[in-house]
Amino acid sequence: MKLTVIGHWGGFPGPGEASSGYLFQKNGYNLLVDCGSAVLSHLQSYVQIKDLHAVLISHYHHDHIADIGPLHYGRLVSGMAEEGVPLLPIYGHTGDSEGFNRLTYKNVSKGISYDPFHPLRIGPFKIEFLKTNHPAECYAFRISDGESSVVYTADSSYKKELIPFAKEADLLLTECNLYAGQDGGGAGHMTSLDAGAIAKHAGVKECILTHLPHFGKHEDLLTQAKTIYEGPIRLAAKGLTWSVN
Ligand SMILES: [Zn+2]
Ligand SMILES: [Zn+2]
Repeated sequence: MKLTVIGHWGGFPGPGEASSGYLFQKNGYNLLVDCGSAVLSHLQSYVQIKDLHAVLISHYHHDHIADIGPLHYGRLVSGMAEEGVPLLPIYGHTGDSEGFNRLTYKNVSKGISYDPFHPLRIGPFKIEFLKTNHPAECYAFRISDGESSVVYTADSSYKKELIPFAKEADLLLTECNLYAGQDGGGAGHMTSLDAGAIAKHAGVKECILTHLPHFGKHEDLLTQAKTIYEGPIRLAAKGLTWSVN
């Protein structure tokens, strides 16, 4: 599978960039995970809106769903310009019915609830779920294609259950919204040391830090995480790709 980072900012997008959005591709199938602010604009550098097959949403904070409305309009207009643009499935949890109800739009998209206790099949991908520690109900995803697996933490403060959940994943795509010494418990976010600890103890093959903060020097996040995790580690960036096979 191939992963492309569409947006990597926490909270709101930096200039010319986007908040949370990740494109997973395999054998021509295009799955968008989270659809934050400015994601729709940047997504089009990699795939046409009409060619998205499905969307998967971790939770209903603005920085993860702000562009759902524009996505609806994008599909609507694509369907006017060309026949055969199918109904877009958007998978989300039903713990927040107001959030979930925003996923369905006319005959353009349909919100589909996922059951976090059962793996979900979306195209070539199998998705497993873990509820995170976050003020809004939120799920981490383990996304596998039978050959490799990526664990995306979505938003969470440190949670030890993320370690077995991410065990020996090919990639840990972990939020890292805070620097060493900050307290993420109340905000529901991880520090660089938290992220590094999960990567180390889960024994993941590679790590990418994402959901980056709008303060401090991001290089420091990397330096701090590296004091714990010794494997390959990078900062997320617009257009950064990772792939196996
Ligand atoms: Zn967020
Ligand atoms: Zn959040």
